[in-house]
Amino acid sequence: MTAHGNLFIVSAPSGAGKSSLISALLENQPADMQVSVSHTTRQPRQGEVDAQHYHFVTPDTFKSLIKEKAFFEWAEVFGNFYGTSRIVIEKTLSQGIDVFLDIDWQGAQQVKKIMPEAIGVFILPPSKAELERRLTGRGQDSTKVINSRMAQAVSEMSHYHEYDYVIINDNFITAQQDLLAIIHSQRLTATSQIHAHDGMLKDLLAE
Ligand code: GDP
Ligand code: ADP
Ligand code: 5GP
Repeated sequence: MTAHGNLFIVSAPSGAGKSSLISALLENQPADMQVSVSHTTRQPRQGEVDAQHYHFVTPDTFKSLIKEKAFFEWAEVFGNFYGTSRIVIEKTLSQGIDVFLDIDWQGAQQVKKIMPEAIGVFILPPSKAELERRLTGRGQDSTKVINSRMAQAVSEMSHYHEYDYVIINDNFITAQQDLLAIIHSQRLTATSQIHAHDGMLKDLLAE
């Protein structure tokens, strides 16, 4: 049996803390987890680095990539296009590395169709007021962008029940522990263990 990593989909309304949670998880660069770097037509925020936070591309390049079937999934979110590279996902999973997708609910639905075994995690803020505080406090988006993201927050959050797990990101450390607990339990499922310990299991069961 070939190695096969787990695919985790993480979604949340903008500002709920999914990027912070995923970054904290990958801070020490564990060899067995990677976050997928999406392509986007959005303008880079201050401090965002091409190929690290996103692959920043023009709408024309994005359209060509759609035609070439380069995307595992893609969607229009807040007036910009976002997409996940197919080849990177397939290659990374086949190396037995877990992959995290920070994508919206439309992308999550597409991924679940292609790969039903993908694990969906939805991050919720503790309240609308706190969500707005975080979006404003991040200090990265204009008031117009913040207002439009707040206006879409309820419709995004209404998809939470389509996910396997829900984390309330009130206390950051607790939310981090919750995310780790989900990853650990997924790695302990019989299907994951068969992939991870193929040789050992064969030895144990040999007559
Ligand atoms: P954030 O809300 O602060 O993380 O803002 P971003 O601009 O980074 O992301 C905007 C939206 O696009 C979010 O809902 C993301 O989940 C979504 N998104 C980012 N990358 C992808 C992707 O590759 N595919 C899809 N479908 N959605 C994405
Ligand atoms: P998202 O990726 O979901 O849009 P971010 O990870 O950028 O959200 O978080 C939005 C802002 O909220 C950031 O400034 C982040 O530092 C802050 N934040 C995230 N989680 C918490 C938390 N549990 N308590 C307080 N602030 C938080
Ligand atoms: P931001 O512009 O704040 O970086 O991202 C806005 C939203 O786009 C977030 O909800 C993020 O999860 C989503 N997003 C980012 N990359 C992708 C992607 O590749 N595919 C999809 N479907 N959504 C994405």
